[in-house]
Amino acid sequence: MIASKDDLIRLLKAFSNAFGPPGHEEEIRKLVIEEVRPYSDEVYVDSLGNVIITKRGNSKFPKIMLDAHMDEVGIIVTHIDSKGFIRFHTLGGIDPRSLYAQKVIIKGKKAKIQGFIGAKPPHLMSQEESKKVIGLTDLFIDVGASSKDEVLDMGIEIGSVGTFDTQFKILTQNRVSGKAFDDRVGLVVLVSLFKILKDSDYNLVGNAAVQEEVGLRGARVAAWRIEPDLALALEGTAAGDVPGTPEHLSSTSLGRGPAITIADRSVITHPKILQTLINAAKESSIPYQFKKMIVGGTDAGAIHLTKSGVPSGVVSVPCRYIHGPVSILDLRDLENTIKLVKYFIEKISLI
Ligand SMILES: [Zn+2]
Repeated sequence: MIASKDDLIRLLKAFSNAFGPPGHEEEIRKLVIEEVRPYSDEVYVDSLGNVIITKRGNSKFPKIMLDAHMDEVGIIVTHIDSKGFIRFHTLGGIDPRSLYAQKVIIKGKKAKIQGFIGAKPPHLMSQEESKKVIGLTDLFIDVGASSKDEVLDMGIEIGSVGTFDTQFKILTQNRVSGKAFDDRVGLVVLVSLFKILKDSDYNLVGNAAVQEEVGLRGARVAAWRIEPDLALALEGTAAGDVPGTPEHLSSTSLGRGPAITIADRSVITHPKILQTLINAAKESSIPYQFKKMIVGGTDAGAIHLTKSGVPSGVVSVPCRYIHGPVSILDLRDLENTIKLVKYFIEKISLI
């Protein structure tokens, strides 16, 4: 019924490895369009770069918007000094502590350039300095250049953008690692649903959104065009099932199924959506969990406030270490998220 595990791995690998910081989603956008076009009636790229995917069904069914964002957290070049060191700012929420000593890829004008995030070496720090947490302004990117001109010759300039340099990996039978699972795993769910429901009577409009990580910007304008009857944001959300986190503060856990949001900082899940998700999971015996922390925001936050309001909710695949260089997820959670959203679409269409 759902795509084979091998196909899900193939898609997640391709999406995870693709480059796409906020506002620069060209590479991931191309992959999404290639994958979804055969399973839709219309694919449209709007003026901000959102990919709006329409699958028409029976007009008596509601128009359901499925949103997953294409962008990933990244960096933007703000200064290049005379010795060739690059200063930068973050695009989206990255803890500076997870940036130090990481590899990054910067998109130069001619090619992608690998860089390394450095700071003053610990053995050169004063005692006072070594006690302080390294902040963004202490960090720089070293691309091996020895002058500003050499950096410019590489095609890197003020405004060039970059991401973590991490390749997708299969870790164990069910667990994989890679960058940008938030929200490339949501895109895998979205594309898979269009494949599964191609010949169904349901009305689906997918939105592969731009610029979620900098303030839910793409979804905000896409929802105005789509005018959905209801919406689901499909996400990769933070898992906290790691040492040092008590269970009630762990938000979500790997392997326990899709995470249903009751509320976060951007939206309170509409009661009808929430109940239908829970019923769909129970009736089809799909394991599920609630996202236990009222933190973070998603595109549902922007979508539900569109025009006169759109009942909205969020379903997520739990991922450890999101917004860092490497995330880990459990493929069974991905499969169960696809199943849950499929049943949800069937149930909510018939209400
Ligand atoms: Zn996200």
